[in-house]
Amino acid sequence: MIQLRLKAGREKSVTRRHPWVFASAVAGLDGTPEDGETVAVFSSSGEFLAWGAISLHSQIRLRLWSWDPSVEIDEGFFRSRIQQALAFRSSLPPSGMSNASRLVYAESDGLPGLIVDRYGDFLVVQFLSSGAERWCEVLVSLLVECSGISNLYERSDVDVRRLEGLAERTGVLRGSAPPERILIHENELQFWVDPVQGHKTGFYLDQRRNRELISRLAEGRNVLDCFCYTGGFTVAALKGGAHSLVAVDSSASALSLAAQNLELNHIPPESCRFIERDVFQALREFRDRGDKFELLVLDPPKFAPTVSQVQRAARGYKDINLLAFKLLNPGGVLVTFSCSGGVDLALFQSIVAGAALDAGVQAHITEILSQSADHPVALNFPEAAYLKGLVVRVAD
Ligand code: SAH
Repeated sequence: MIQLRLKAGREKSVTRRHPWVFASAVAGLDGTPEDGETVAVFSSSGEFLAWGAISLHSQIRLRLWSWDPSVEIDEGFFRSRIQQALAFRSSLPPSGMSNASRLVYAESDGLPGLIVDRYGDFLVVQFLSSGAERWCEVLVSLLVECSGISNLYERSDVDVRRLEGLAERTGVLRGSAPPERILIHENELQFWVDPVQGHKTGFYLDQRRNRELISRLAEGRNVLDCFCYTGGFTVAALKGGAHSLVAVDSSASALSLAAQNLELNHIPPESCRFIERDVFQALREFRDRGDKFELLVLDPPKFAPTVSQVQRAARGYKDINLLAFKLLNPGGVLVTFSCSGGVDLALFQSIVAGAALDAGVQAHITEILSQSADHPVALNFPEAAYLKGLVVRVAD
């Protein structure tokens, strides 16, 4: 086993069980590991600290598998981690409400680099780190064995693989190729999911609990759903009794699936107007026309994947939130999200506060939102908390 020694004074995050070790913390190695190989991590004074997978090309040089000196990082180790992840999901109340959920959420489940989402009879997986990549075949077999689901499709077409020196990859790993669209249900809602062309693994499972909230908030209100994708919030709002709904997205294929999702839920097509447009532009057009709404949802894509893009992202968030405040009637509600890892809740709240100030409205936060419970945040890995949302009520 190759040993890796940390620099003096750089052990603290490892002993506090943060699963990442940066290249700058590494003093040296006593061999030349292959990419993704398991190495033993030692303190500068020679004390064993953890087992981790080495990423030769990434600034995140190690992702730690375990801090237990007696454990072997082998098939049995991964079986037990996957079983724990699945047991956790089945313990979430009420586990029977949907046939779609995140079964493995990487670092939060002690499996850095591995994402597994279930859509009915299909698992859609992503291998995002050299360590997960190295164990790919073993993990695939274990996922089939532990979940009892025999169709696995890979969606490792994600930017972060480049940082690991890995090429993007998609395709069937086990069983049948997924159909063009898979039917999933969530409470009384149903959705078509496109696991091959869709975003991420196909659907925004992380917004499940917020769809329930939107459904409750929408009753009797005129709703504007911005960045609607395949209509998660649109369908939830209309099923919840929205009076009228306008949904905006720049992707024609997302809007086409959104329209099919309305039909699937027996919602008459005339209840919703879909607009294929840049949201920044559409919001200005609504403002110039004097359109008003009573519930407005902003769920943009990641404006700041990393801390370096935060300033630009902040301008983007400020812009759309300011326009949103101008479009709301007194007493109206804005539900505004950021899924940017580089923008934390405090910063997001201050951006939204600045937007309200500039729009000349007084408003209160009535709820703070986050990702659904099948995307848990391990306390030793706060970076897992990427989705934040605010429910903001404009004063009468
Ligand atoms: N609210 C959705 C997820 C939104 S994902 C849900 O819960 O399912 C972000 C969406 O924003 C994508 O559908 C993408 O096509 C769209 N998008 C990205 N940039 C955009 C822009 N400038 N204007 C309009 N839509 C945009």
